[in-house]
Amino acid sequence: MDPSDDCGALQFECPRCGHTETDDYEVIESGTAMDWRCGSCLRLFSVLLTECEHCGCESVHPALTGAEQANLNDVRCQHCGKPSLRHEELTESSEVL
Ligand SMILES: [Zn+2]
Ligand SMILES: [Zn+2]
Repeated sequence: MDPSDDCGALQFECPRCGHTETDDYEVIESGTAMDWRCGSCLRLFSVLLTECEHCGCESVHPALTGAEQANLNDVRCQHCGKPSLRHEELTESSEVL
């Protein structure tokens, strides 16, 4: 029952009102910034899901807009604090350009 030990529940705060949102249905795709509608203030913000290659936990990074979303290179795991970027995702995203 220790919430800090549970990386299955994805929780993040709305950057507009601070309401805690949970991705109960795992609709957020890993490595892709997408819009999320806050269940409290009903405004959109951007979320970015990363999966840590060190501890295997997923982290959600909220931002006001997709343009303000953290660079994947700068994202750190919210559980172990290490850069959570997977190298193959970096290669894939750079090839798109
Ligand atoms: Zn909100
Ligand atoms: Zn980690």
